[in-house]
Amino acid sequence: MTDLSPLLAKADESLPQSLERLFELVRIPSISTDPAFKADCQRAAEWLVKELNDLGFTASVRDTPGHPMVVAHHAAASEDAPHALFYGHYDVQPVDPLNLWEDDPFAPAIKEKDGRKVITGRGTSDDKGQLLTFVEACRAYKAVNGSLPVRITVLFEGEEESGSTSLKPFLSANEAELKADFALVCDTSMWDRETPAIAAALRGLVGEEITITAADRDLHSGLFGGAAANPVHILTRILADLHDETGKVTLPGFYEGVEETPSNIKASWDSLGRTAESFLGEVGLSIPSGEKGRSVLELTWARPTAEVNGIIGGYTGEGFKTVIAAKASAKVSFRLVGDQDPAKIRDSFRAYVTSRIPADCSVEFHEHGGSPAIQLSYDSPVLTKAKNALSDEWPKAAVVIGMGGSIPIVGDFQKMLGMDSLLVGFGQVDDRIHSPNEKYDLNSFHKGIRSWIRILDALAKN
Ligand SMILES: [Zn+2]
Repeated sequence: MTDLSPLLAKADESLPQSLERLFELVRIPSISTDPAFKADCQRAAEWLVKELNDLGFTASVRDTPGHPMVVAHHAAASEDAPHALFYGHYDVQPVDPLNLWEDDPFAPAIKEKDGRKVITGRGTSDDKGQLLTFVEACRAYKAVNGSLPVRITVLFEGEEESGSTSLKPFLSANEAELKADFALVCDTSMWDRETPAIAAALRGLVGEEITITAADRDLHSGLFGGAAANPVHILTRILADLHDETGKVTLPGFYEGVEETPSNIKASWDSLGRTAESFLGEVGLSIPSGEKGRSVLELTWARPTAEVNGIIGGYTGEGFKTVIAAKASAKVSFRLVGDQDPAKIRDSFRAYVTSRIPADCSVEFHEHGGSPAIQLSYDSPVLTKAKNALSDEWPKAAVVIGMGGSIPIVGDFQKMLGMDSLLVGFGQVDDRIHSPNEKYDLNSFHKGIRSWIRILDALAKN
């Protein structure tokens, strides 16, 4: 085992300088969505390039039609070490309403909050503080060993908060340069202050809109009611029958590619103590919906869903109108897990709906996107190494979690560069990212640096 203590000690003693560098970066108001800050985005990119070049990376600002990318490369101490792509973003969200900030969002400071030291300012948590945890870990390696244990390519984006317009074209134009063995993405949160988390499962999505047409015009429900088909009735029955009484989705083939979560992972989720009451209590509910007999974490991280997101049909205005509508429509989305195939799910849904439309009525479908789930194998060596490394640093063992939604960059890395991503971040739920009074715990920054030192060492080993 490598003795990491000189590296960790270096990170500890350099913390004041690391913080000063974070402050410098936070002082640059790199708000990507507002053209007034275009020069500041450029300045933030140049600042990062200078830092990386000073560390011995070959770094450059790379122009795009929007804000520039930062790309940097550094070789590993050993030829056969793995190659990691590290991703973060230097752009930040706008700061309005400014009057709700207790301090200047671009004048970072250390403050005492609820008995903890926090770093205040826009971007301290999302994502400048997070990306610098990695850069500062590299700095400690260079200072102590003169080298890095893993070959590293860095990609910093400047449009993450404004739609990442340039990202896909940039990835495809620079595929060979950016492809690594795996990606490290630092833009997520810990489970809690003591428990680090690695996200290994992100649900995919299929969006469908259906419109059912019955009569060729809206009808008087007294004259036609009882004889003419009512599309609202047809639609709602179809939607209601998407689930059986146990909460399972009834579409043929829907669960193809859905695997049960390994029991040790399920047990670790159970140990997090997230009950239905605590999870749903935050939104005024208490009884889990969906599939019976599964925890709320399993339901939101590891199980697929069918949800009706909207229904339109008939008269919904003021007063009352006795009408049988000509049309009724609904927007329906499916969250996917494991190897579920978005195209197959869409086909199955369309076949199911079509089969239930009366012969004198019709249905039209409109597609609203589709992307598969991302699932890192729970026993992947990279995941296990990072998990153990994090567990060595924090009071509680790292937990491998899922995420109910998707993170586009992870799908792009997978699809365009054929790379799995490891999502490791040190944010806290109360960091107020995107809101006034954003902060990053000093402990997140400090132990985040130490965590990357440990992770890089672990990843370098076979
Ligand atoms: Zn972010």
